[in-house]
Amino acid sequence: MTTGQTNLLAGIGEDGRHLYTCPLCEAMCGLEIEVSDGRVVGIRGNRDDTWSRGHICPKGASLGVVHEDPDRIRRPMIKVDGHWQEVSWDAAFRRCTELLAPVIEKYGIGAVTCYTGNPLAHSFSLGRYTGVLLGMSGIPLSYSPGTVDQWPKNLSSHLMYGGWWSFPVPDIERTDLLVVMGANPAASQGSLLAAPDVMGIIDGIRKRGKVIVIDPVRTLTASRASEWLPITPGTDAALLLGVTHTLFDEDLVALGAMAPHLDGLDRLREVTADWSPERVAGVTGIDAERIRGLARQLVSTERAVVYGRIGTCNQEFGSLASWLVDVVNILTGHFDNVGGSMFPRATAWSVTVQPIPGLEDGAAEFGRSVLGCAAPRRCSVRCRCHAWPRRSRRRGRARSRRSSPWRATRSCRLRPVTRSTRCCRNWTR
Ligand code: SF4
Repeated sequence: MTTGQTNLLAGIGEDGRHLYTCPLCEAMCGLEIEVSDGRVVGIRGNRDDTWSRGHICPKGASLGVVHEDPDRIRRPMIKVDGHWQEVSWDAAFRRCTELLAPVIEKYGIGAVTCYTGNPLAHSFSLGRYTGVLLGMSGIPLSYSPGTVDQWPKNLSSHLMYGGWWSFPVPDIERTDLLVVMGANPAASQGSLLAAPDVMGIIDGIRKRGKVIVIDPVRTLTASRASEWLPITPGTDAALLLGVTHTLFDEDLVALGAMAPHLDGLDRLREVTADWSPERVAGVTGIDAERIRGLARQLVSTERAVVYGRIGTCNQEFGSLASWLVDVVNILTGHFDNVGGSMFPRATAWSVTVQPIPGLEDGAAEFGRSVLGCAAPRRCSVRCRCHAWPRRSRRRGRARSRRSSPWRATRSCRLRPVTRSTRCCRNWTR
């Protein structure tokens, strides 16, 4: 994804300038790597990269050190008589079979798990095979850094929209009021919103509208915002409850076109009735009148959106806060609307939208967004069970029942009922 000057690139294994994509996080920054005498002597962000436009963080800038680390594992290693030794790939795979086969034979595939890290998830070539391996092996449980990243959002999306990866994202290019909670795009280049030069876009919002950052720390993003609201760590859910309370209390709820697609609204009103801004002001550290003002601002701005990220996830009430971010966007009329919170379509295949092997019909649609499309309106929420054949759906439902302790909490959930969400009701029934 680069433009210009490719004629200056060095060949594989040669000294000179190389272009590379950092695999360490979803920002997938384009890197320019200088190699001299066979060693990495410099890494900087590639300004020609159409995706990252020169962004880089300390991790990406340090990849050369990792590459040159003498302790870095460069070939497969197995332990023989208590000592590690390098072996060929064939020998390594043989050893894997020797170790795994008896375990699977004795205890079943449920005794096996795996851990997939960021460099795998953000590598196109490797990522393609993850889903294939997991799907075909039948490994029922796997682990990833998501546990300390976005799982609360996965959970709330699953409960609301019927898909773990059905994340609505802020339409930052077209919004006029962006409320950022627990995110620092100045460092991360944006997470779960995926756009080139996010801070450039945020600067644009500030010029034509307003950017409010709600964060315990005055981050670099906060320092470039129109307003910074310091919040007591871990109280984002309380703040959002106060905002939701205000929306009901002051009769500000503006569902718009979403109204026929929602359930649980009365229950939501009940559960937020006790959470007035005056009650949560003390614990959040944000003045009650400012909380009420925030609710009013969101409703009175035609194109506005609340965006919550890792800070709203990695805390005691992460699932609640993640859910409430979407609830506030829905109640203020900023859901599935231009400049609001929208379901994008993948621009390319990724590990999260891969078809299940043998079920290629389940592949994601491609394109930018469901809005502004001349085609008839279609459901934008991806739903796996929708594409699964009968036998797999039954298996999926059984698995869902076994692994869904949160089903007990289903009595109160405000969720859009789209075509595929109805389908997912069958999935969770
Ligand atoms: S933000 Fe840092 S870690 Fe993430 S892709 Fe860019 S350079 Fe790599």
